[in-house]
Amino acid sequence: MKLSNTPFLPLRRWLALAGAAVALAAPSIASAQGELTVYCTVQEEWCRPMVAAFEKTTGIKVSMTRKSSGEFYAQIKAESANPRGDVWWGGTGDPHLQAAEEGLTDPYVSKTSLDSLQDWAVRQARSAQFRTVGIYAGALGFSYNADELKKRKLPEPKCWADLVKPIYKDEIQVANPNSSGTSYTMLATMVQIMGEDKAFAWMKALHKNVNQYTKSGAAPARAVATGESLIGITFQHDAVVQALGGAPVKIVSPCEGTGYEIGSMSIIKGAKNLANARKWYDWALTPEAQAIGATAGVSYQVPSNKKATVPAAAPKLSEIKLIDYNFAKYGSSAERKRLLAKWDAEVGNQP
Ligand code: PLP
Repeated sequence: MKLSNTPFLPLRRWLALAGAAVALAAPSIASAQGELTVYCTVQEEWCRPMVAAFEKTTGIKVSMTRKSSGEFYAQIKAESANPRGDVWWGGTGDPHLQAAEEGLTDPYVSKTSLDSLQDWAVRQARSAQFRTVGIYAGALGFSYNADELKKRKLPEPKCWADLVKPIYKDEIQVANPNSSGTSYTMLATMVQIMGEDKAFAWMKALHKNVNQYTKSGAAPARAVATGESLIGITFQHDAVVQALGGAPVKIVSPCEGTGYEIGSMSIIKGAKNLANARKWYDWALTPEAQAIGATAGVSYQVPSNKKATVPAAAPKLSEIKLIDYNFAKYGSSAERKRLLAKWDAEVGNQP
């Protein structure tokens, strides 16, 4: 229909057209009030009960996709001219901080009081001018299949230094740090523990022992559980899921100390369903929402709400030798880009 013709239409036809236009517009207005697109970066098994609980609590219809931290960071950047997601829930804090610095996410101070959150969660929010917030924390480490280790008469690996020994050739699985926040946490952790030169030498030596770089950070824990890989570098809580499932998995806190993540959440800039994204954000910080993963038996991180029950099986951060992970530095856009490019050039692209 040419707009220039419309003034000459008879009144009855005008009203019919206007009615049709309202009828066509109505469903999209209604759906804009009742929908939310969640980019979920934890394990799919945890994303699903979260979505179901939110839909039940609010009546808002959620469309959810699951991808790894680095993948969603890249997608949100690629979609920034026409954002398709509303809220990015979960995943390691570094890419959330990078997205915040690059203006890909929106500032929001939650209605769920900051006083109810752990200091590390609030620090994360403040350092990003409230463009992100901490939702859980968990320590990095590795796990091994105890049955396979015994069968192969190999010694128990206890330290990061053990993982580069030639006896573990082709026995280790870890994710690619470009797609996986877990693996970027490993990269940044090694740089902080050893200094950059030694860390890259260690990662090059590790490369010789790696049987596969997976896309998702938690996949190596599953490979250890099935015996597909002897050793897997993951967050310790991801290995807990496998151990509780009955697999012969032993979890190691490396002797040199280890890094940790502040799992985060951000609202995507230009979110089409901004009000609903804020509702998710407020809800996801409540003790009730933060209990869902452990109740479903799929997540064993430390929740960021002080009143949320810490799952009994969650690795105790106070008992792990944690480094003072520099989130501001390793979550900065320049540093993350530089380290990932260097990893590609010096480690990932090697035969
Ligand atoms: N799943 C769980 C349970 C996590 O704790 C994390 C990290 O925040 C992720 C998934 C993210 O994993 P990826 O390394 O695939 O980005």
